Amino acid sequence: MVEEDEPPDKLPSEVSTIVESLIEKDETVIKFLLSDIDEEGNFGDRWLIITDKKIITVNPETKHFFKVPLKLVRSAEAKDYVGNGELLVETPLGSERVIRFSRRFIEDFRKAANFIDAMAKKKVIVNGNGVENETYWARRPKIAKRKVVKWLLSYLKPSWGYMALSLILSLAIVGLALIPPKLMGILIDEVFPSSNNNLGNPNLLLFIVLGLLGTYVANSVLGILRNYTLAYFGQKVTYDLRTSFYKHLQLMSLSFYDKFSSGRIMQRLVSDTGTVQWFLSWGMQSLIISFLQIIGIGFMIFTINFRLALISLLPIPVILLGWPLFRKKSSKIYHRNWRRLADVNSLLWSTVPGTIVVKTFVQERFEFKRFTEKMRSLFKANMDSTLLNLKFFPVLSFVTYMSTVMMWWIGGNEVFAGTLTTGTLITFVSYISMFYGPIQTISNQFPQIQQSMTSAERIFEVLEMEPEIKEQPDAVAFDFKGKIELKNVDFGYDPYTPVLKNINLTIHPGETIGVVGPSGSGKTTLIKLLMRFYDPTRGAIYIDGVDIKKIGLQCLRSQIGIVLQEPDLFYGSLAYNIAYAKQNAEPEEIVVAAKAANVHEFAMDQRRYLKYDTNVGTGGRRLSGGERQRVGIARAILADPKILILDEATSSVDTLTERKIQEAMDNLVEGRTTIIIAHRLSTLKKADRIVVMEKGRIVEVGSHRELMKTGGLYSRLYNAQFEKESKMESDIDGLVALEKRI
Ligand code: ADP
Ligand code: MG
Repeated sequence: MVEEDEPPDKLPSEVSTIVESLIEKDETVIKFLLSDIDEEGNFGDRWLIITDKKIITVNPETKHFFKVPLKLVRSAEAKDYVGNGELLVETPLGSERVIRFSRRFIEDFRKAANFIDAMAKKKVIVNGNGVENETYWARRPKIAKRKVVKWLLSYLKPSWGYMALSLILSLAIVGLALIPPKLMGILIDEVFPSSNNNLGNPNLLLFIVLGLLGTYVANSVLGILRNYTLAYFGQKVTYDLRTSFYKHLQLMSLSFYDKFSSGRIMQRLVSDTGTVQWFLSWGMQSLIISFLQIIGIGFMIFTINFRLALISLLPIPVILLGWPLFRKKSSKIYHRNWRRLADVNSLLWSTVPGTIVVKTFVQERFEFKRFTEKMRSLFKANMDSTLLNLKFFPVLSFVTYMSTVMMWWIGGNEVFAGTLTTGTLITFVSYISMFYGPIQTISNQFPQIQQSMTSAERIFEVLEMEPEIKEQPDAVAFDFKGKIELKNVDFGYDPYTPVLKNINLTIHPGETIGVVGPSGSGKTTLIKLLMRFYDPTRGAIYIDGVDIKKIGLQCLRSQIGIVLQEPDLFYGSLAYNIAYAKQNAEPEEIVVAAKAANVHEFAMDQRRYLKYDTNVGTGGRRLSGGERQRVGIARAILADPKILILDEATSSVDTLTERKIQEAMDNLVEGRTTIIIAHRLSTLKKADRIVVMEKGRIVEVGSHRELMKTGGLYSRLYNAQFEKESKMESDIDGLVALEKRI
């Protein structure tokens, strides 16, 4: 999503390639703007491009585009809704939706709309007259860096002690590293024989050597300790970061998951937290250490010989001038690498779990080609940054070596002049060669620090999002009796595409309600509102007279059992999946529920060696659709909820199995409020009342008899199905009778 910080001054090349294919020779791009909602309504990049002849939208990822000739545009306007907005243009063919965007971009798109409007009404002349070409309007709202840093620091607090300890150890190691050159100087000047010290000092040799030994031993020991503390500290931070991120993800409402692809969320959880961890532990420490080293070494060389020290620092301006140039280039290239990598990742995230689709449509070659293309551009991007490094770093090293060579020359002359001892010169040169190491470390780390900040922002962005559905502080919890009322309920996943309209319905405790209607009429949506996965945009839902917004989420959802059309099973055993709603269930309970839902039968099948311990595979893919549904039913039976909802729960089982489940259900339905959404209308004959939905409205309510009598939508649907099914029904009756006899 928000990968790019800086607003681009040019259209990205993927976009301009597409744009170029859409425009004529003499047509020029005048303005462009980036939106964060794609053509599907998901978060993603989509560009609005205004030329002097057309309005174009392009999604660089999906290559989707859309264009309207300006000639056809009469007016344009940006509409502002609750969650997001859209840019509409009025054409002779009607109103056309050009692009959608989230609320935070409303101002930018309002400007765009005004601009288009002015062009359409010929209020601005865009051919070279006063309007500059190719300008980008909007700046992405940046998350304040200060806020991110403050948040990051809050993760350091709990492990403060470890951080301090590793810093102290680092300090000691920096100090120790300063000793050997000094000792070497003494060795040369005082231990070995020289012009003013003819005999030398063999006794001192032992001390010096022991001193060196001690320094190296201490260095190794402290190094081990420091690396341990640092690793511990880093792991602790990652642990905290990932757990709080995961906890936050669990709190987020379904609408969040509707918009973010799981690949993106997981990448943030796994790789971004890793990058941040690297920065908080190793990155930051090595920065601090490098600074300390520079100060320590600087102090040493200046105390040894001020003049020489000044001369030795001459190459620094060269480095200081070169760095910003390099960094500007490298951050651009780096950013590109990152995006290429993200491309590869998202391709993998979408195709690996979707292998079955790829295979079904025999698109392996296409996918492979897509992957190779993406890999190739990643290859190229990585090579670009290598090339840049190859050009820059040897130059830097050369400058460093030059300063050492210079020292030998100037310092050597001073030795001959007698103003400097050989030992001091050697000490000095050793320090100088140590001096540029930390400078390089710091500079090498800048790109990585940049990367960590981006990662931190990406995590922070999610953590800052508030779940749309929140429990109220004064939420109540009570045992449900099972009365449900919906009053004037309107709802849409997008504020401007209503899915439910003015729903009014009262369901009495213990009643069994059937819900029917064409697919897409909003039946499942109704259930999602009842579970409070989403809140209605208007009106309210009451259980036992209490607005569900005032009921604790745990209390609400644990007393409503739901069997979904496509129950989502987790990777794990059958037993684990049945007991998911009741983690502490006894094995006997699981078997009772499994028997009632007809799971027992296939669980104990001879060919299934592991019985209830059989792994169901990712998403339950090792079970058939019907088996999955039965596991879903068993799950609901075990949870023993006050309100039971079956959403086309028997749609993928055969009629014979459905009958069996129905029998089990008859017991289950006793004493609860039950809502059965069914495709097969024969399932609903026993329902007390049937609600018929069409296009988001309730069009009929009544018992089977009543509805058949009125001759509305229900009776039409029923008759159409009945003809088909009556023959099958009688066959099934025969089969059941046969089975009973056996
Ligand atoms: P039914 O269960 O009656 O077949 P649904 O309630 O699932 O219908 O869907 C009603 C409408 O809402 C459909 O047009 C569907 O495309 C849309 N819809 C369902 N889920 C979402 C979602 N998560 N985001 C956006 N639109 C959705
Ligand atoms: Mg449905």
